Amino acid sequence: MSQSLDAADTLARFRDRFVRDPEVVAYLDGNSLGRPLAASIARVSEFMSGQWGGRLIRGWDEGWLDLGQRIGDDLGRVALGAAPGQTTIGDSTTVLLYKLVRAAVAARPERSEIVIDRDNFPTDRYVLEGIAAECGLTLRWIDAGDATVDRVAAVLGEKTALVVLSHVAYRSGYLADVPAITDLAHEAGALVLWDLCHSAGVVPTRLDDWGVDLAVGCTYKYLNGGPGSPAFAYVRSELQGGMRQPIQGWLGSGTPFEMGQGYVAAPGIRGMLSGTPPVIGMLAMRDMIAAIEEAGIDAVRVKSVALTEYAIRLVDELVPSAVLSSPRAAAERGSHITIDHPRFEEIMPALWERGVIPDFRRPTGIRLGLSPLSTSFDEVRIGVEAIAELLGE
Ligand SMILES: *Cc1c(COP(=O)(O)O)cnc(C)c1O
Repeated sequence: MSQSLDAADTLARFRDRFVRDPEVVAYLDGNSLGRPLAASIARVSEFMSGQWGGRLIRGWDEGWLDLGQRIGDDLGRVALGAAPGQTTIGDSTTVLLYKLVRAAVAARPERSEIVIDRDNFPTDRYVLEGIAAECGLTLRWIDAGDATVDRVAAVLGEKTALVVLSHVAYRSGYLADVPAITDLAHEAGALVLWDLCHSAGVVPTRLDDWGVDLAVGCTYKYLNGGPGSPAFAYVRSELQGGMRQPIQGWLGSGTPFEMGQGYVAAPGIRGMLSGTPPVIGMLAMRDMIAAIEEAGIDAVRVKSVALTEYAIRLVDELVPSAVLSSPRAAAERGSHITIDHPRFEEIMPALWERGVIPDFRRPTGIRLGLSPLSTSFDEVRIGVEAIAELLGE
C-alpha cells in the first residue's frame, strides 16, 4: 500500500533533495524541525566564503539589510497569499508575537480584553499573560476545546481589542476557520492575530483576501529554515501606519544611518524591525520556499492531507488501543496527528533507537508531523508499524 502511494506521488521527486541520515528510517517530526535541503548547505557555505568573506561590510548595502523583506515577499507570494510589503523575517516568533500584540492593543486603546485559547502554544499564552499584566488588560480564555467559531463568538465582545489564535493547533492539529473567525472579530471591532507556526508552508492561507490583520510564524518547521531560524511577521498594509511596536531599535527607524536624536518609525513593514537582521539564519528557508513554489502550495496541501489520512488509517488498523486526538475530517486538520496511549512515554526510547522519530507530548501523546516534500508514505508505515510492534499489538 505505502509503495503504491509513493509510486503515485507527484511530489516524490522532492524527497531526494533533502539531507538524509540512513539511520533515520522514519522522520515524523518535520513539524518541529524540518529536514535540511542539500541546496541549503551549498547556499550557506557560498554565503560564508563569497558574501561574508568576500564582500565584508559592503554586503550590508548589497542586499543583506533588506533580505528579510525580500524573503518575506517571497514567502507571502508562495505560501501566505500576501502581496509584497507586508511580510518580513525578523526575530523569534516569541519576540515578534510580543511586538505585534503590543502594537495591536495600543491601536485599540479604548478596549481592555484579549481573546486566546488554553490549548494555544505555551509561548503564545505566556507572552499574552505578560502583556496583560504589563498593560492592565484582561485575558478572555477559551477554556476548553479547539478554537471553533462558536467558542470564539462566546468570548468576543465590545471590550475585545485583539483575538490571538493558532491556525493549526500545535497539539490536536485542529485547523481553525481563519476567514470566519477573522470576520467575526472585525464585526466586534477587534483586531486578529493568527499564529501560523504549524501551517506556514503546508496549509495555504489567503491572508490578504481573508482580511487578516496580523500574523506571525516559525520558519524552522514546515519552512525548513534550520534550528532557531528567524520567524516572520505579517502586518496588513492598511494597518501599518497605525501600528507602533514597542522595541524601538535603530533598524526599525526611518533613517537608521543618520544616527539622529529621537525615534521615528520607518514606514511600512520595516517599522516592525528592531535590530540587526540575523542574515545567516535566513538563508536556508529560501531553498524551501523555492521548493514549495516549484511544487505549488496547493499540491503540498493535497499530499499533506493524503499523508495524514494514511497515518490515521494505519493507526486505526494497527494500533486500535491508541486514541486519535486529532480531527478525522481532513478539512479540520493540519499536517500532523496526535495519538494518545498510556504507554507511549515508555516506548519512545525504543522508537528513537530504531530510527523512528516522532514527537512525544506529555502526558501520553505521540505526534506524527508529516512534511509533504520530505516525507514518504513508506516512512509513515514504518513509523506506525514500529509503534504497534513495541506496544505488542
Ligand atoms: C513552535 C511554535 C512557537 C515557537 O516560538 P519560538 O519563539 O520560535 O520558540 C510559537 N507558537 C507556536 C504555535 C508554535 O507552534
